[in-house]
Amino acid sequence: MKAIQVSQVGGPEALALVELPVPVPKPNEAVVQIKAAGVNFIDVYYREGRYPAPLPFTIGQEGAGEIVAVGSDVTSVQPGDRVAYTGVMGSYAEYASVPADRLVKIPDQIDFNQAAASMLQGMTAHYLSHSTYLLQNGETALIHAAAGGVGQLLVQMAKRLGARVIATAGSADKAQIARDAGADECIVYTQEDFESETRRLTGGRGVDVVYDGVGKATFDKGLNVLRPRGYMVLFGGASGAVPPFDLLELTHKGSLFLTRPTLVHYIGTREELEQRSGDVLQMITSGELKIRIHKAYPLTEARQAHRDLEGRATSGKLLLVP
Ligand code: NDP
Repeated sequence: MKAIQVSQVGGPEALALVELPVPVPKPNEAVVQIKAAGVNFIDVYYREGRYPAPLPFTIGQEGAGEIVAVGSDVTSVQPGDRVAYTGVMGSYAEYASVPADRLVKIPDQIDFNQAAASMLQGMTAHYLSHSTYLLQNGETALIHAAAGGVGQLLVQMAKRLGARVIATAGSADKAQIARDAGADECIVYTQEDFESETRRLTGGRGVDVVYDGVGKATFDKGLNVLRPRGYMVLFGGASGAVPPFDLLELTHKGSLFLTRPTLVHYIGTREELEQRSGDVLQMITSGELKIRIHKAYPLTEARQAHRDLEGRATSGKLLLVP
C-alpha cells in the first residue's frame, strides 16, 4: 500500500511516499481502508520533531474509511462498517490498523470527507467550548485564527452556546470567513492591534475567555484582554511555542486561569469519546455545524498540503485522499 512516512524529521520534504505492506490487525484492532485522512497542525509538530515519535513513522492522526479486517477479540465493529477516528498515528496511508475502541461509526448522512474532518478539529472545538471552559450565554470569547480548521468550528459552537465572539484572522478574506461562521466581530490581527481593539469592543472590561491556538505571537497580549479571573485556554502554537512563563504574571494580570489542554485527555474513556463524537456528528447531521473543506489533496500531495497549512494559505479543513 502507499503511505506517507517520516524517516527523518524536518520540513515538508520529510514527507516521503513509500510502499508498505497492508497492516495485519492485532487482536484488539481493526484495519480501516482510508477514504479520507485529515491534515492537522499536530502533523506539522510531529514532522518537525517538536513532538517526538520513534522513527520511521507513518504520519497522520485522523481518518475515515471502511473496515476491511478485524482482530480476533473485536466484536464492536465488522468488515464493511463505515468508521472514523483520531489520536492514532498512521492515517496518511491507504490502510491503517486502529484499536477498535477508538473507532466511531459514521452516520449514513455523513460522507467520508465530512467524517474525517469532524474528528480531531470537531471534537477539539467541542471540548474547548463545552469542557475546558464551558461558555455561558452572554459571555464573550476571543477566538484566534477563527477562519482556520478548529477556529471556524469553535466560532459556531460558541455562538450556539449563546456567547459573543470576537475573532481574529490574518486577512480580510479570512475575516469574512470567520464572520460567515458566526463571529460578531473580526479583527485582522496582521493589520490591527488585537489587544486595543478587543479592549475597545468590550468597553474596557475584557473577555471571559481567550481560545488561543496561535501561541507565541498572541499569548502575551491575550493575557492583557482577559477580565479579572478570566481563562486563557492555550491549545496550540501555530506561530511557535510560547516560551517559559512567570506564573506571577497571572496574579498581576487579574488572578487569571491558564490551561494548556490537548484532545487526548478529553476523549480518554470510551464513554467520553462516544459522547463527544456523538454530539459533533449530531450537530453536523442536524445542520447546526457546517464543516468547510478547504481542499482535498491526493495522498501523493501531502507535502503541498503541509506547505499550504503552514503558509497560512488555508481556511478550513485539509484532507488527503488515497
Ligand atoms: P488552522 O487551520 O487554524 O491553521 C493555522 C492557522 O493559524 C493559520 O491559518 C493562520 O491563520 C494561523 N497562524 C497565525 N500565525 C501563524 C504562523 N506564524 N504560521 C502558521 N499559521 C499561523 O490549523 P488547525 O485548525 O489544524 O489548528 C489550529 C491550532 O489548534 C494549532 O495550533 C493546532 O496545534 C491546535 N490544535 C490543538 C489541539 C489540542 O487538543 N490542543 C487539537 C487540534 C488543533 P491566520 O492567517 O488567520 O492567522
